[in-house]
Amino acid sequence: MRGEASEPNLQNLQELAATERNSRRTRFWHLLFTLTWILGTAVAVSSADLPVDLTEQHLNDVVRDFRGRLRITPPVSVSIVAANQYLVSVEQASRPQKGFIIKFDREFLPTLEEQELRAVIAHELGHIWIFTHHPYLQTEPLANEKAMQLVDRESLEKVYKKVWQFEGQKGSLEEFLAKVE
Ligand SMILES: [Zn+2]
Repeated sequence: MRGEASEPNLQNLQELAATERNSRRTRFWHLLFTLTWILGTAVAVSSADLPVDLTEQHLNDVVRDFRGRLRITPPVSVSIVAANQYLVSVEQASRPQKGFIIKFDREFLPTLEEQELRAVIAHELGHIWIFTHHPYLQTEPLANEKAMQLVDRESLEKVYKKVWQFEGQKGSLEEFLAKVE
């Protein structure tokens, strides 16, 4: 009887040891995953410090990607202009061109980091989405709501801060002044 009793005990001990090994293995993989995640984040952070690609080519690439994700059908292009009182704005392209054109102020553009650049484009595409989806009315909060399908709120807030910084030099900026809601 005792022998029978000790056998399951031994088995229990073996199971316990196996469980312990498994949990150690789980901890190891968890740690490895965490390290990989931290390293990945570090790489992402350092890439934010890299020079930003400010070419129209790059801006148009971001537009093409975001436009597809918001399912905007008319063509949208980017133009860097000598001066734009709104710093960044969107308008319907003049004929014979079709669709929309996003105009970046040449002096404001280099103040933006990649993340902010993407937030600006997302916001302007938000306006285009509203233009092309009647009967929605143009409002800053709605443009930002659409933008937040593409970028995070933090990026949009950073853009607003940049615009306000720039405002001191440039004057009226009602295009961007509404708060992110
Ligand atoms: Zn706007």
